[in-house]
Amino acid sequence: SVALAASLAATSACSSTRDEGSTDSGASASNLIGIAMPQKSLERWNKDGSHLDEILKKAGYQTSLQHADSVEQQITQIQNMINQNPKVLVVASIDGTALAPALEKAAEKKVKVIAYDRLINSTPNVDYYATFDNYQVGKLQGEFIVEKLGLKDGKGPFNLEPFAGSDDDNNAKFFFSGAWDVLKPYLDSGKLVVPSGKKPASNDEWTKVSVKGWKTETAQSEMDNRLNSFYTGGKKVNVVLSPNDSLALGIAQSLESKGYKPGADYPIITGQDADLANTKNILADKQSMTVWKDTRTLGDQVLKMVDSIVKGGTVEVNDEKTYNNGNKVVPSYLLPPVVVTKADVKTKLVDSGFYTADKLGL
Ligand code: BGC
Repeated sequence: SVALAASLAATSACSSTRDEGSTDSGASASNLIGIAMPQKSLERWNKDGSHLDEILKKAGYQTSLQHADSVEQQITQIQNMINQNPKVLVVASIDGTALAPALEKAAEKKVKVIAYDRLINSTPNVDYYATFDNYQVGKLQGEFIVEKLGLKDGKGPFNLEPFAGSDDDNNAKFFFSGAWDVLKPYLDSGKLVVPSGKKPASNDEWTKVSVKGWKTETAQSEMDNRLNSFYTGGKKVNVVLSPNDSLALGIAQSLESKGYKPGADYPIITGQDADLANTKNILADKQSMTVWKDTRTLGDQVLKMVDSIVKGGTVEVNDEKTYNNGNKVVPSYLLPPVVVTKADVKTKLVDSGFYTADKLGL
């Protein structure tokens, strides 16, 4: 097919030959590392993909970096990578439950598999998992809301509209649970109310508010619908629980189109990833916070894992209980997420080199 041909061409275009100068990684002659990433249209995976590709190459590995727009395309890419006998496959899945058949082949060929950022479910053939503490991401969002609204001081009631991530992403339920565990007592006491009625009764009902594919446009139209139907007669939304920045962007666009003004009636909006447009929105008071995950540190951790696997060393993990994929508990390395608000965009995002001041217009 055209798609297959294009993906094969992309594979060879992205593969690099080994840099003769970097032999200190100890990698052997055939040292291909496959990197399968989700949609290029989501800012995170662009950054993550190119960072990982760059540091692996610097360490002397050959790489094949692929982004996929659909589950089918990702499966084809993974099959192609396995056919090239990589040492390790690093996979950030689109659908965490769809890769089990493709990974059987990896196991047969003794290709080690690292789940990157998102867990891969229902298969024994995932060896390690490197991610940020996903439950903590949601908890930080929930705690931010509690703090900002003064809920602990008995303030309220406030109008809340909750959103959750894509239902095929294993992380999404962790984000939601982390936030909902913090917010639920205030929903139960009536200090937080959900005028749209889109209110999961328990953590397990999170798909009631999920946004497929983490799409900005979907979040925007969902927010439009809620505002049009349930916020009439001057009723205002006070706070929006958004699990990440791609959703927060659509929600902000919806609010702006309805005339909400920063510094006046604009609600609290949470986020995650410190995407560029969202960081600018934070500076412009159109988003209240983002949970920043310094994806450079995730890449560095994965490079360490790859090195240990290739050299036969012990792979460093720090969590061996949280991530049960339905088949086994996958040994994991969890990194800490960090809250960023307007007050610390500079100290956290600029001083660390994540963004230049220039890029943010600072
Ligand atoms: C990642 C988030 C990201 C989302 C959408 C999740 O799996 O952990 O950082 O915002 O996918 O790309």
